[in-house]
Amino acid sequence: MLKKCPLMIDVHAHLASKAYADIDVIIARARSCGVRKIVMSITDPREYHAAKAIVERHPQSVFLTVGFDPCCFDQGLFDDFISLASSATIVGIGEVGLDHFYIRDDEQRSLQERRFRLAISIANERRLPVVVHSRSAGKNALALLHSEGADQVLMHAFDGKAGDALAAAKGGYYFSIPTSVVHSEQKKKMARLLPLESLMLETDSPVLAPVRGEINEPANLIRSAEAISAIKRIPLEDVIAVTTANASSLFNI
Ligand SMILES: [Zn+2]
Repeated sequence: MLKKCPLMIDVHAHLASKAYADIDVIIARARSCGVRKIVMSITDPREYHAAKAIVERHPQSVFLTVGFDPCCFDQGLFDDFISLASSATIVGIGEVGLDHFYIRDDEQRSLQERRFRLAISIANERRLPVVVHSRSAGKNALALLHSEGADQVLMHAFDGKAGDALAAAKGGYYFSIPTSVVHSEQKKKMARLLPLESLMLETDSPVLAPVRGEINEPANLIRSAEAISAIKRIPLEDVIAVTTANASSLFNI
C-alpha cells in the first residue's frame, strides 16, 4: 500500500535531540518508511550547530526551524535565539509559544508572551511560518497570534479545545496531528473535527510516540496518517497527498 503513496512530510521533529545515538540511521529508516522530508525544530540556540550539520548532510530531506523553549528564562540564550531567528537559513520560526502547564507564575507568563510576540514579529518580517507550542494555553496562543497578524501558522500538538482549533483553521491556520493520536482522545477529536485541508503530520520525535514511553522517531509518521484515515474514513493515499501538499506549501519545501 505504501508504495503507491506519495511522500510524507514530518513537520515537527527534534532530530538534534540527545535521545538519538546515530541520527543518520534514524533519517534512513524514516526514508524507508515513506518519510522523505522532515522539518527539524530546535528550542535551544546551543543545538544550532548540531542541527546545521544534520541539514548539511541531508539537504534534500531535512529542513530547519529555530525556536525557543517557553519554559526557559535565560536572557542570554534568548538573545542568541533572536539573532539566529533573524539571520539563519531556515524554513520557519519555532517552536515558540506559551506553556501554561509548567509555568504558573504570572510574571513568567507575561515574559513568555512578550517573547512570543517578538518571535512572531520576526517571522512576519521574514515572511516565514511560525511553529507554535501552546501547552495548556491553546486559546491564549491563538488570540496572541491573531493580534500580531500572524498569517502563516502551524499549531503543533495542539492540546486545547477542538472547537477553538476549528475556528483558527477556518482562518487559515494549520494543525499537525502527532503520532500520539493513536492513544489520545483529544487528538482524535482534533482529527475528526478539522478539515483535512488544515492538517499536517508530525511525530514531535523523540516524544509523543504511538506507544507511551518509547522513543519516537520520524519512521512512525505513518501512524498519524493511518489514524486520520480511519477517523475521517478517507483513503490513506488522500490523507498523505493533502497533508504533504499543505506542508510543502507552508514551509516552501
Ligand atoms: Zn516539539
